[in-house]
Amino acid sequence: MTAAPERTAVAPRIGVLALQGDVREHIEALDALGIGGAEVRTLAQLDEVDGLIMPGGESTTIARLLLIFGMHEPLRDRIAAGMPVWGTCAGAILLAERAPDLDRPTLGLMDVLAERNAYGRQVDSFEVDLDIAGLDGGPVRAVFIRAPRLAEPGPGVEVLARLEDGSIAACRQGRVLATAFHPELTTDGRLHAYFLAMTEEALAAARASR
Ligand code: GLN
Repeated sequence: MTAAPERTAVAPRIGVLALQGDVREHIEALDALGIGGAEVRTLAQLDEVDGLIMPGGESTTIARLLLIFGMHEPLRDRIAAGMPVWGTCAGAILLAERAPDLDRPTLGLMDVLAERNAYGRQVDSFEVDLDIAGLDGGPVRAVFIRAPRLAEPGPGVEVLARLEDGSIAACRQGRVLATAFHPELTTDGRLHAYFLAMTEEALAAARASR
């Protein structure tokens, strides 16, 4: 199992993809950790960040806008080259290698199947306490809103948390993190701190190899 990332003294710049979705909540969660998050909606802004959060919203809309703004390939290339990324809900769908009910290509960087809106109408929003591997301090209150069901993880995917029905709530593949729920809608900043530490680790590794 991957150990929880170590905090280092390197100050990372974390961006939030700001094409559509709950951008502000993620920026506020980063502010609460003492690092200002930056909105990313252009390639120039993408160049300025060391790690990127892809928020929840509508994956169809975000996927379209990524293509229209010419960001799909450059973003995929940056992540493939080692930039840490964290997708929440719609963002997780966009990272998945397989999302059969999305009408546009995903970035295809996390070896999982994402089934959109798979929890059904009646229970399309729910909350549950989840133990997450690598997070100390007890369970996280996880808010699911028309969430995707993440399943069929490939061999490189570490499942960090599952729901009772066995579907994946949080998983990680190298520097790609995905949560089907919305940590930015609670005041629990531990997952944002986890991603911050992932980004610090990647920065420190890049500096060490220079
Ligand atoms: N149902 C949305 C989608 O499929 C995701 C919902 C969300 O991000 N809260 O894109």
